[in-house]
Amino acid sequence: MSWQTVLGFEVHIELATRSKMFCGCPADHFGKTPNSQTCPVCLGLPGALPVPNVRAVEWCIKLGLALNCQINRFSKFDRKNYFYPDLPKGYQISQYDQPFGHSGHLFLSSGKKIRITRVHLEEDTGKLQHAVVEGKKVSLIDFNRSGVPLVEIVTEPDFTDSSQSDEFLKEIQNIVRALDISRADMEKGSMRLEANISVMPAGQTNLPPYKVEVKNVNSFRFIKKAVDFEISRHIKLLESGKTPKQETRGYSESLGGTVSQRSKEEAHDYRYFPEPDIPPMTFTNSQINKWLQELPPLPEQIRSELISNFTLSSANAAIIASNQQMYNIFTQAVSDPEFSPKAIADVLINKRYGPVLPKTGNDLIKYLKSLNQTSISDSSQITEAVKKIISANPRAIADIKSGKQQALFYLIGLIKRDLGNVDISLVKKILIEQIL
Ligand code: ZN
Ligand code: MN
Repeated sequence: MSWQTVLGFEVHIELATRSKMFCGCPADHFGKTPNSQTCPVCLGLPGALPVPNVRAVEWCIKLGLALNCQINRFSKFDRKNYFYPDLPKGYQISQYDQPFGHSGHLFLSSGKKIRITRVHLEEDTGKLQHAVVEGKKVSLIDFNRSGVPLVEIVTEPDFTDSSQSDEFLKEIQNIVRALDISRADMEKGSMRLEANISVMPAGQTNLPPYKVEVKNVNSFRFIKKAVDFEISRHIKLLESGKTPKQETRGYSESLGGTVSQRSKEEAHDYRYFPEPDIPPMTFTNSQINKWLQELPPLPEQIRSELISNFTLSSANAAIIASNQQMYNIFTQAVSDPEFSPKAIADVLINKRYGPVLPKTGNDLIKYLKSLNQTSISDSSQITEAVKKIISANPRAIADIKSGKQQALFYLIGLIKRDLGNVDISLVKKILIEQIL
C-alpha cells in the first residue's frame, strides 16, 4: 500500500514590542538575569489586572493581513485553562473563537497553496530550567518570558511532504522580518514550532482518525528529521494493522527521533471562556484598510517584481528578496544604467565583492567600475597602500605573524577594496615583505 503524509504546523512568534502583552515590563527577555523583569501582572498574582498592548494587537493583525487572512471586526481574548509550573495563573490569556485573523493562505514558490487556519495573539509563559543545585536535581523557573506577546499561526494540514516545511517556515520568517515585528530566531526561541503529523492511504480524502503533535523542534535542521522520523514510525504501525496513538511527542536531538510526552488534549479540555478582565475589541473597515496600506513590500511581491522588472532568475530573485540588506543595495545599484541587473545580482549573490556585503549600492557600482579599469601593478602605489593598511590593522598583523593565513587574505581584501582592480600576487609579495 502506498501512503500519504498529512502535515500541518503551529508556529509561535514572540513579538519584539517594547513592553509585554498585558503589563509594562520589558518584552526583551533574552539573556537577562532570571526573574528581573516581572511584576504582579506577569507573575499572575491575585488581583492584578491585564491591560492589552495595542502595538501587539496592531502587529498581529498586520501579520494576519500579510498572510491574506480575513480580519474579524469583533474580537476578544479568552482564558485557556491548564496547569503547568511555568503558568502561575493556571490559565493563559489567548484567543479561542474570535481570533484576530482567519482563513488566509500563502503560496510556496512551487505554486503550492498552504491555507492558514488562524492567526491569534496570546501571552508567552515562563521558562523552566532543569538543573542540579547542591547535588539535587531541581527545576528552576524564570518568569522574564511570562507575558511576552506571542502570535500563533496555525496552518491547515496542507503539506504533503516534509521538504515543503523548510520553505514555508523560512517564508514566514521573511514575512515577519519584512514587517519588522520580530527577528523570529529559532535559536533564540523567538520562533518556535509544533508539527501535526499523520499518515493515510494515498488517495484517501477524509483526514486520518489521529494526529501526533511534535514539539521542541528548535532549529530548521531538525524539522525535516523530526517529521520524517514520525512518518516512517506511523507507516510501520499502520502496516502492522495498528493506528498510531494520538499524543504529544518531543524531538530529541541526541536520539535523532521523537519520544512520547503525553496523550494529546482536545480543545474542550482547556475549558476556554472569555477573559472577563479585558473588554472585547472592535475594528472598523477604515482601520483595517489603513493597516493594509501600511504593509511593507512582502517577499512574494518583491520576488515577482525582481523577476518581471529586472529579468532575474527565480532562484536569484528568491535570494535577494529574503535578505533586506541585499535587496536595498540591489535597488540602489540598478538605478545606475551602466551595469545590468544580472551583473549586480551576481556580485551580491556570489559574494564577488568579498565576504561582507557592500555598504551601499554606490559602493557596489564603484567596485564594478574598478573591474573595468586596467589592473594596478605599480609597486610604489601598492607599497603605499600596504603601509597604510598595516598600521591600521595591528591585530591582523599579529595573527599573520602567529601563522594565521586567514588574516593575510583579509588584508589583501582591504587593499583590493582600497585600490580597486590590482595585481593580487604583487600585493601579496609586498605585504609579506613589509610585515616580516
Ligand atoms: Zn510584568
Ligand atoms: Mn499557543
